Amino acid sequence: MEHFRIVIIGGGPIGIACGLEAKKKGLSYVIIEKGPIVNSLFNYPINMQFFSSSEKLEIDNIPFISKDAKPKRNEALEYYRRIVTSNELNIHLFERVQSVEKSDEVFRVVSNKATYTSDNVIVATGFYDLPNLLNIPGEHLPKVSHYYNDPHFYASQKLAVIGASNSAIDAALECWRKGSEVTLIIRGYEVGQRVKYWVRPDIINRIEEGSIKAYYNATVKEIRKTEIVIDTPDGEVILENDFVLALTGYMPNFEFLQNLGIALSDDEKRLPQYNPETMETNIPGLYLAGVICGGMETHKWFIENSRIHAPMIIDAIKNKAAITAKS
Ligand SMILES: Cc1cc2nc3c(=O)[nH]c(=O)nc-3n(C[C@H](O)[C@H](O)[C@H](O)COP(=O)(O)OP(=O)(O)OC[C@H]3O[C@@H](n4cnc5c(N)ncnc54)[C@H](O)[C@@H]3O)c2cc1C
Repeated sequence: MEHFRIVIIGGGPIGIACGLEAKKKGLSYVIIEKGPIVNSLFNYPINMQFFSSSEKLEIDNIPFISKDAKPKRNEALEYYRRIVTSNELNIHLFERVQSVEKSDEVFRVVSNKATYTSDNVIVATGFYDLPNLLNIPGEHLPKVSHYYNDPHFYASQKLAVIGASNSAIDAALECWRKGSEVTLIIRGYEVGQRVKYWVRPDIINRIEEGSIKAYYNATVKEIRKTEIVIDTPDGEVILENDFVLALTGYMPNFEFLQNLGIALSDDEKRLPQYNPETMETNIPGLYLAGVICGGMETHKWFIENSRIHAPMIIDAIKNKAAITAKS
C-alpha cells in the first residue's frame, strides 16, 4: 500500500493545480481521476467557449495562449494536458475513489483499483457528474439528455431545450444555426442574467424575430415519445418533439461528501463546512478545492476564483507540519 503526504481526488483544473503546487513544495502526492485528464472539460460541448479569458484559467502562472480572448474547450484541453504531461504529474487516470476513512491520524483511500494511505486528502471532485433532474414522467426516455455535445446530431429535428443559463442558451443557438427547430422552455420570466454578455443579445434577437420559440414562466410537465407537455401562463401546450436537452444545471455529489464525514449546511444550499483561510473541512487533514465548495450554489466558484485554493491548501499543510515538528 503506497503512502502519500496528500491524496488528491479529482483531476480537473483545480485538482491538477493542487498536484502542481504539492510537487513544487516537495510533498509526495497522487491525483486520482475517474476519467481522462480534466474529465469535466472533456465532456463539455464540443464547440464550448469559456466565459473567462485565457489568463484567468491559468494555473501556477503558466501562460495559457489562446487564439481568441475567450478560449475554446479544445484549447483548454491542450493547456491542462500539457501541464500534466510536461510536469510529469503523478496522476492515476480512469480510477474512481470509492471511500475515504480516517483512523489514527491516517487516511485510507480506497479506489476501484488500489488502496492508499495519506496524511491529508484534498477533495476536488467538481459538480459535473450529477444533473439537476426534472423529476417528471418521460425524463428517462432515450431522446432526453442532460448533457449537450454536438449540434449536428439535432439537425432537421424538433428540439426542446429546457433552461435559461449558459449551457441551454449556447445549445439552443448552435442547434438552431445547424437547422434544428428549437423551442426554449424557461422557468423564469427572462433569459438568465449570467448568460455570456456577447451571447445574451443574440438569443434575445433570435427569440424576438421568431427564429427560436421561447416559453417563459413555463415548465415541462411530461415528455412523451413524440411530444412534450408544457405548463405555460396561458395553459397547457402540447408540442411535437424529437429530442429534449434538459440543461438545468448540475450538483455536487453530496452523498460522497457526507460519506467522508464532511458536514453540510441544513438549508437548501447544502454548503460544505470548511475554513475559508485553509480550505480544511470539519475533518482535520481533509480539504476541499475548486467548485465543489459551493454546494448547490454552483455559480459561485469557477476556475477563475478557485485556482487560489491550491496554494492556500498546500501552504496550510506545510504550516501545520512545521508547527507539529516544533512542538
Ligand atoms: C459548461 C461550463 C462552462 C464553464 N465555463 C467556465 C469559465 O468560462 N470559466 C470558469 O472559470 N469556470 C467555468 N466553468 C465552471 C468551472 O470552471 C468548471 O466547473 C471546472 O471544471 C471546475 O474545476 P474543478 O477542478 O473544481 O472541477 P472539475 O473540472 O469538475 O473536476 C472534478 C474532477 O473530479 C473527478 N471525480 C469526481 N468524482 C471522482 C471520484 N470519486 N474519484 C475520482 N475522480 C473523481 C471528475 O471526473 C472530474 O474530472 C464552467 C462550467 C461548465 C459546466
